[in-house]
Amino acid sequence: MNTVMYNVDVLVVGGGVTGAMAAICAARSGQRVILIEKESYIGGMAVGSMMGQLVGCGLDGTPMFGGTSEEIVNKLIASGDAEYYPMRARTRPGNILLLRYSIESLQYQLESDVTDAGATILYKTIVSSIREDAEGCTVVARGLYDMMEIRCSAVIDATGNAAVAHLLGHDTEISPTDKRFPVSLIFKLGNVDLEKLKGFDWVAVRKEWFEKGILPAERLALAPCPNTNEAIVNATHAVSVNHESTEDVSKALTALRRQVIELIPVLKAKIPGLENAFLSAIAPVLGVRDARRIVGKYRLTGDDVRTMRDFDDAVAPSCWPMDVDLPDGSNIWEETDRPYRIPYRVMVPERGGRLLVTGRSIDADALAFSAVRVIPTCMGLGEAAGEAAAISVSSGLPFEKIDGKHLRNILVQKGVKL
Ligand SMILES: Cc1cc2nc3c(=O)[nH]c(=O)nc-3n(C[C@H](O)[C@H](O)[C@H](O)COP(=O)(O)OP(=O)(O)OC[C@H]3O[C@@H](n4cnc5c(N)ncnc54)[C@H](O)[C@@H]3O)c2cc1C
Repeated sequence: MNTVMYNVDVLVVGGGVTGAMAAICAARSGQRVILIEKESYIGGMAVGSMMGQLVGCGLDGTPMFGGTSEEIVNKLIASGDAEYYPMRARTRPGNILLLRYSIESLQYQLESDVTDAGATILYKTIVSSIREDAEGCTVVARGLYDMMEIRCSAVIDATGNAAVAHLLGHDTEISPTDKRFPVSLIFKLGNVDLEKLKGFDWVAVRKEWFEKGILPAERLALAPCPNTNEAIVNATHAVSVNHESTEDVSKALTALRRQVIELIPVLKAKIPGLENAFLSAIAPVLGVRDARRIVGKYRLTGDDVRTMRDFDDAVAPSCWPMDVDLPDGSNIWEETDRPYRIPYRVMVPERGGRLLVTGRSIDADALAFSAVRVIPTCMGLGEAAGEAAAISVSSGLPFEKIDGKHLRNILVQKGVKL
């Protein structure tokens, strides 16, 4: 295979929402950026696993977005491809804001913003090996058609599974397979009577339906897709899946596709508005809730979230509740009154260096992780990682030497609500 050589400032690995935001922000801050992605689209699970809604976008009607995240979300809203939806809070008065989005538009918007910022995207490419020295990293990556050797001053691991940190020998942690969050496969129904569906409260029925064996888990969410008569359904469930095993993931995909097919007649019979619905798509990518996470300079805890602790080096806001999907199908749910903040240090691996880990692979305990893994929070973490990489490259400093308070100030100046 031919080997193509690249020399850039920042390499972003993983083109989910987190990696896209990191690439946009680093490139807009003047860095030469490459983003490598193993699939052939930008958006990661938000696109390939067809989430269809950003949860935890704000509280009580006030959006939490600022900076580049706000700009991107506002573009989707302005083009009619996304709309806010207030979800009633469960344990306090008020609401939690959700944003329903068109999957195709989110992918196109992120891809355009990454390339318009000047970053180069390499699709169908996966990291094979990485070496680190005092000035930066050399990454060998395998594409579908050729090999690549990429020299860079900073690497951002946005793989959603700390894959690069793990390769580089940083300490990482992952729950035992039988304790991991369940995996799900999202699907889409067409020809839905959305007016009729509006009156149906799935939160009110899902516990009873699970206990009666109607649903495979205490999980049921139906999100109408903007500008269509389609709704995205999140209701499937498989446990004890090792998402780092090809065989396990393949078996889960097969089992969950069967679950989708079996669920459709049940949902059509029971839910008003679905009488004439048909299956219009099954997500091609398995929805994996859990993640390998780094051992970082600081571990965000459930208590930090519960007490909405502020940090001098806060770099990303978040407001989704602690939301633990237990392997037995039940759920732990703990809301906060106000948005809480995530500090810079959770992205910096314990031993420091030229690699920063962002998105849902930050250092967080199980409770905090269950809250911060959602798309809006990942967007904010990606934005912060992109700015941190720009500081690291222009100052020559490794990530552990970057002043988190300075980073916070830069983000605030750019409009991030901290
Ligand atoms: C079933 C389910 C339902 C959910 N529902 C919602 C919801 O309704 N709303 C919400 O806000 N959040 C939801 N979430 C959470 C949310 O979707 C994810 O946490 C979020 O999308 C993570 O984004 P990310 O960019 O950090 O990671 P990912 O989306 O996982 O992106 C990582 C990217 O890295 C790529 N990659 C991985 N390894 C490599 C490698 N070695 N080389 C190159 N590329 C690599 C992957 O292909 C992927 O594109 C849900 C999650 C699940 C599993």
